[in-house]
Amino acid sequence: MWQTGAAPVPDAVYLDSAATSQKPQAVIDALVHYYTRQNANVHRGVYTLAEQATEAYEQARQAVADFIHAEAPENIIFTRGTTESLNWVATSFGGTHIQAGDEIIITIMEHHSNLVPWQQLALRTGATLRYVDIDAQGLLDMKSFQNMLSPKTKIVAVTQVSNVLGTINPIQEISSLAHAVGAVVVVDGAQSAPHMPVDVQALGADFFAFSGHKMLGPTGIGVLYGKMPLLAEMPPVEFGGEMISKVEKFHTTWADIPWRFEGGTPNIAGAVGLAAAIRYLQGIGLATIRAHEQALTAYALDQLNAIPGLTIYGPPDAQRRGGVVAFTLQGVHPHDLATVLDTQQVAVRAGHHCAQPLMARLGVVATARASFYLYNGQADVDRLVAAVNEAKEFFQ
Ligand code: PLP
Repeated sequence: MWQTGAAPVPDAVYLDSAATSQKPQAVIDALVHYYTRQNANVHRGVYTLAEQATEAYEQARQAVADFIHAEAPENIIFTRGTTESLNWVATSFGGTHIQAGDEIIITIMEHHSNLVPWQQLALRTGATLRYVDIDAQGLLDMKSFQNMLSPKTKIVAVTQVSNVLGTINPIQEISSLAHAVGAVVVVDGAQSAPHMPVDVQALGADFFAFSGHKMLGPTGIGVLYGKMPLLAEMPPVEFGGEMISKVEKFHTTWADIPWRFEGGTPNIAGAVGLAAAIRYLQGIGLATIRAHEQALTAYALDQLNAIPGLTIYGPPDAQRRGGVVAFTLQGVHPHDLATVLDTQQVAVRAGHHCAQPLMARLGVVATARASFYLYNGQADVDRLVAAVNEAKEFFQ
């Protein structure tokens, strides 16, 4: 357990890092340093300060590339977050590569960010959207995925870690099966990149999306990784300054990749803050963070399972799940449960977690969800369990 140095309510137990993480002082300091010492627009000025800002921004791109083992910094596009990254792939790549009769495969456990863009693309183009189901343990039904694949499959979009079930999906296997039929693989890394080592090349991801704010970084900065030949086939989504090489009255030539996708002044401070977050995570080590969260999740599963009337969703063993535990308590609405937990200063999320089709599949309207990060420890799980027991008494 690491003291990151920034906790909005010191005595509270924060168990909602799947929604957004707290920020270490090092990230806050990097933002302050940027705004007080380096602030200028990028890629424009020839004066020293502008060059320094540009260098900081481009160094952040390099840091992201190293973090996910991308081929080069040019494979990294800065976006607002996972949602924007996935929308760009659906709009730009999907918009130019998908036609009526094609098939897009996603899974029933997708966050709306990796669902609605594909649903809308299918509606626009007349393509068919297909869902891979889960089994009783919340694992992907790989047999049905295999059966679904055909030469009609053009895109397979899947989350690496479910934000509700915690399930870790076998991306490598999914990629090789998808590639065998010529499909492009889009991976939602919002819940994986912050918590475990990610190697986009080893995963076989053609596109990989994640958000800075879930990994100790600032809000409003995210990443889209893409394989270069695919990025080269994508038209820019937004037009304006920064993304051009030459503008004539009736014709424009785009800037090189990735800058052609970053129209307008980018979130420079966000990128600098994200690089600081990456340095912080790498200082501890992603494998160490994963091991810590896995042990904590195993402990939480044990403790919560011992509470009568409590149902946990997702795989029973911590090895196959990230640090996310969604649960319901018999006879208590998850919102009421979360409200009572809040009176004990235990912050958990309650709701559909932006995964309504998954909620329907599980036969619930909502769940409570505790999610862990490097700054949580066993004492936090103990507080959660004690608060759930109190809530149980309160409602009985
Ligand atoms: N995908 C998953 C699995 C998520 O958990 C989230 C956020 O909760 C997102 C996508 C969307 O991330 P953002 O809101 O940062 O764009």
